[in-house]
Amino acid sequence: MENIFQKIISGEIPSHKVYENDYVLAFLDINPVNKGHALVIPKKEVKDIYELEEKEAGELMKAIVIVSNAVKAGSGAPAINIVSNNGAEAGQEVFHLHFHIVPSYKKGEIQASVHHPYDGEDEMKSFAEKIKNAIN
Ligand code: AMP
Repeated sequence: MENIFQKIISGEIPSHKVYENDYVLAFLDINPVNKGHALVIPKKEVKDIYELEEKEAGELMKAIVIVSNAVKAGSGAPAINIVSNNGAEAGQEVFHLHFHIVPSYKKGEIQASVHHPYDGEDEMKSFAEKIKNAIN
């Protein structure tokens, strides 16, 4: 079944588009964390970051840069946050890859997540090793 973002791409569901090219669409989030909150999505059906082909990442990143600058300038906010939730445990609700571009109008307005420190240097080293080894 088509998810809601695919329906936005096809025009079946209306959206407030702010940027579009052959590969990417950006539109306002309907339930904004802050006014001016935009979403950048690939037009191709890609569920999450794990499904994105590396060669497609360039177009997406270019659009993220363009829309980030536009959201900042257009909203008048001095700063923005860029967030992408990938997987249900990370809070992903719409399973079509998207990047949230959220203007931040004043310091501390957007809640930083809780931090979970390492037990020590060894554990930190071990995480770095496991992540490095997962890159092929
Ligand atoms: P996530 O939790 O990262 O999957 O975020 C999904 C986002 O999609 C939420 O911030 C929703 O407010 C947003 N959203 C859902 N439906 C629509 C829609 N029809 N138009 C714009 N944004 C939407």
